[in-house]
Amino acid sequence: MKIQKNKHYEIIVFPNQDIGLKAQQILVTKNIDFKHISTLAVVVPEEKRQEICLLLNKEGILISGYYPFLYRDYEEEFFKRAQEYKPSVNKEEFLKSITLCYVAPCIADRKKIRLIAYFSCDISEILPYLNAVIKGASYNKNAPTLTFTKGRRIINLYNIKVAIAKADDIIDAWNILNELKDLINKTYQNKDKIKPNYEEKVKVTALEIYGWLPKTNCKACGESTCLAFAVRLLLGEQKLENCKPLFSEVKFAENKNIMQEMIEALGL
Ligand code: SF4
Repeated sequence: MKIQKNKHYEIIVFPNQDIGLKAQQILVTKNIDFKHISTLAVVVPEEKRQEICLLLNKEGILISGYYPFLYRDYEEEFFKRAQEYKPSVNKEEFLKSITLCYVAPCIADRKKIRLIAYFSCDISEILPYLNAVIKGASYNKNAPTLTFTKGRRIINLYNIKVAIAKADDIIDAWNILNELKDLINKTYQNKDKIKPNYEEKVKVTALEIYGWLPKTNCKACGESTCLAFAVRLLLGEQKLENCKPLFSEVKFAENKNIMQEMIEALGL
């Protein structure tokens, strides 16, 4: 399929290479036009996306998600980066794979994407070791979860999954997942030499929490401003659910999800 700059397209993402390959074989067999990004994703015309997803679902193909193909992605650079991406495969490792199961645009910033991926094994035992090697991470041993940032991206590690918000695009997401897999395996291999850190460092500030709130100062939570609400939330004196607009307005749904994960991860 030839990409035209005046048309709208979407990227469909598959959970792994086997599924992606099978999906693309089906699309070829059914004579459906698409542009190959890698074995893990394709570009399709926006108006055809629903029909194509339904067809693939009927054929038993799992889809992780889809998001708009932005103007910046038309550049050769995007496809070059996709070709350079090589998923790391080493079946002998502790963590054999990370499967991308959910991809969607961030509602607050539609130029970024959000994703959830599942680990091939439970990594709970490695979290205190990762807490020792990742600078500025916050560990919650009761959950257990480990939260940290990489640039603007927020990464929450759970026992069997990882949730990432504000990844730049799908290639950025794949690269982060690859780096994460390597870090988890390296930490596992070296764990005899690493002193596990069980300390819970709450690094999130009231201003960072404020950044995810509606910032309308509507007072529905009983506080006079959103910043006051953020401060009391951080102190454990407010509940996230008390911010009514966050839970009732669709435009804040993404922020609500991110806040819920952050609060769970920090044990607030
Ligand atoms: S209810 Fe939410 S939006 Fe309204 S003031 Fe409180 S924190 Fe801000």
